[in-house]
Amino acid sequence: MTPATPDRAALHAFLERHQRFLLTTHVNPDGDAIGSEIAFAHWLLSCGKQVRVLNDSPTPAAFGWLANPLGIEVYDEALCESRFAEADALVVLDTGNKQRIGRLARHVELHAIAVAVVDHHVTHDGFGQVNVVEPALASTASLVFELVGEAGWTPDAHAAEALYVGLSTDTGNFRYSNADARAHRMAASLIELGVAPEVTTARVSASAPAGRLRFFGEVLAALEVLEGGRLVVLEASPEQFARHGLVGADTEGLVDMPRIIAGVEVVALISEVEAGKVKVSLRSAGRASIDQVCSRFGGGGHAHAAGVQMRGSRQNARDRILPELARVLAALGDAPAEGGRA
Ligand code: AMP
Ligand code: MN
Ligand code: MN
Repeated sequence: MTPATPDRAALHAFLERHQRFLLTTHVNPDGDAIGSEIAFAHWLLSCGKQVRVLNDSPTPAAFGWLANPLGIEVYDEALCESRFAEADALVVLDTGNKQRIGRLARHVELHAIAVAVVDHHVTHDGFGQVNVVEPALASTASLVFELVGEAGWTPDAHAAEALYVGLSTDTGNFRYSNADARAHRMAASLIELGVAPEVTTARVSASAPAGRLRFFGEVLAALEVLEGGRLVVLEASPEQFARHGLVGADTEGLVDMPRIIAGVEVVALISEVEAGKVKVSLRSAGRASIDQVCSRFGGGGHAHAAGVQMRGSRQNARDRILPELARVLAALGDAPAEGGRA
């Protein structure tokens, strides 16, 4: 099949040109990051290439099973150095922002390695020699799926499952506005390739320790309803993370929950995993665009799901983010919804 764009054609040529690949993704990887890496790795292996996958952050427990049997390595200075020395090309998936690959960024500069970016975020154009950045796609997994199709490769069962994880997690299990016809068509194709949605979804979601739900309960019990019912704010403190034995990745899914409240347009989760390290996650129910609120402070994402990492206290993060959200909500130009009760 002919590649759909010149950038995609350039990527196919890039993959043909190189032999030893290193794959990576953004810090604190999500299902799309891991799923895309695994599917991409299987594709390259099927082409007879050498492949290593190395990330700045550990793989969250929910996606650990996807890593087998290939293995996903976690950053260590010496290990990273040797992986860069061995490789002749780096493929960065699910981010086009060099800072977001964490400690690997410095090695990219030291090694002058050939880089290709495969991503679907709006905020960055990509820092590779080749950049396939398509914000119209629901997930990076969607892009990988279309690329392998263009190359005439049929994903094997494991790659199909990895792609399904990327697509289903980035669409909030097909509930977000990016769950369009193209996303559902891809899901249908993956099911035809053998994916069982109930099995794969359970592998991802039924992996939490009980403490995670207790933590969710605590944070949700303290939710604040602001801006006439249109904004919900959640906060999690370092003490709460520590007491329940959790890490940043354990908040996955939490920010989506307040959206069941009638009239909510935006949810903000302000989590301070360690003292002074605050992560803000924003979700929009579909009308408000919130990516610019994050990109203003150095983060990014999509119109309806975005995030930013901030230094300082939770109060400091609130003081910067909440007025911006109030402005975005005011610009919607209508009265707070009927159902918006605190
Ligand atoms: P999260 O709230 O972490 O689930 O992220 C929502 C979306 O925003 C995802 O598409 C992320 O890739 C993106 N995102 C989150 N944090 C950042 C950040 N610090 N910089 C850029 N994009 C981010
Ligand atoms: Mn991601
Ligand atoms: Mn993604």
